[in-house]
Amino acid sequence: MLDDYNNIQPIVYRILSNVIKNETLSHAYLFETNGFSNSQELIMSFVKSLLCPNKYLNNKNCGNCHQCEVIESGNFPEIKIINPDGLWIKKNQLQELQTEFGEKALIGNKRIYIINNADRLNTSAANSILKFLEEPEEGIIAILVTENTSGILETIKSRCQIIRLKKDKITKDKSYIETIKKILIQNKSTKENDEDQLNEKIEKVINFINYYENHHLDTIIFMQKLWHDYIKTKDDMLDAFDIMIMYYRDILNIKVDNNTEIFEKTKDIEKIIQNNNAEDICKKINILIDKKNNIKSNANTKLLMDKLIIDLEGGI
Ligand SMILES: [Zn+2]
Repeated sequence: MLDDYNNIQPIVYRILSNVIKNETLSHAYLFETNGFSNSQELIMSFVKSLLCPNKYLNNKNCGNCHQCEVIESGNFPEIKIINPDGLWIKKNQLQELQTEFGEKALIGNKRIYIINNADRLNTSAANSILKFLEEPEEGIIAILVTENTSGILETIKSRCQIIRLKKDKITKDKSYIETIKKILIQNKSTKENDEDQLNEKIEKVINFINYYENHHLDTIIFMQKLWHDYIKTKDDMLDAFDIMIMYYRDILNIKVDNNTEIFEKTKDIEKIIQNNNAEDICKKINILIDKKNNIKSNANTKLLMDKLIIDLEGGI
């Protein structure tokens, strides 16, 4: 919901909600994410508000709106998302899209294409975008997304409304990393000497849980990228399990008496609290403790991680 960003991205929230309220749509937006961690969600909530027939900023009110549900599921035919194919976004990717969008919209009167990593448009793809931006078609809205607009051609920039997101607040939100490091070192479980590597690992583990809480069994499909690329040795595994247990314990603390020991209450944590009751969280902690005890004796960590997800989902 766009309303979720009222506090974290106040300026962008004001701009986008005015667009929706006043129906003053541009035909092209360039989102500069500046590494804001929920930029994808923010952009999708904007897209949803544009397409929702009820025009709610707060899609919670859209209990009966089939359209918002389909958008949420990623199967809405009038939204196309383009990601780089390998290193670059290529012209044929845009041609396919233009052919599809050449036919009339099936649902509603707006069609939206989103180009992620727009700084990676190759020259001919950039030219074909430029052509669209110069001669926009009725009802088609382009959303270009980039971390930093310095990689975007001036000619493209000048034809888009630029929406700059604020960076995440790092200092306060990430103080938990220091606390976790202290605990891991106290436990002498960690043999990590490289600070940066340890910081990254802690963040990856938290991201992993957040991903799992949103995607459940699908997590298994992306296990390599989400986990095995970072957590390689058995010592890494032990640290990672300690971190996950700390995370869920704090989530339980917040759930039960709105109190945290290590983590700040983030949007991700709020979501997990909404979707789990205290008993669910306890069960998850117990499963993690149980699996952690198996790490040393278990030769196959890949299997162990897949089994972890299955067990967290209640077993199959
Ligand atoms: Zn809706």
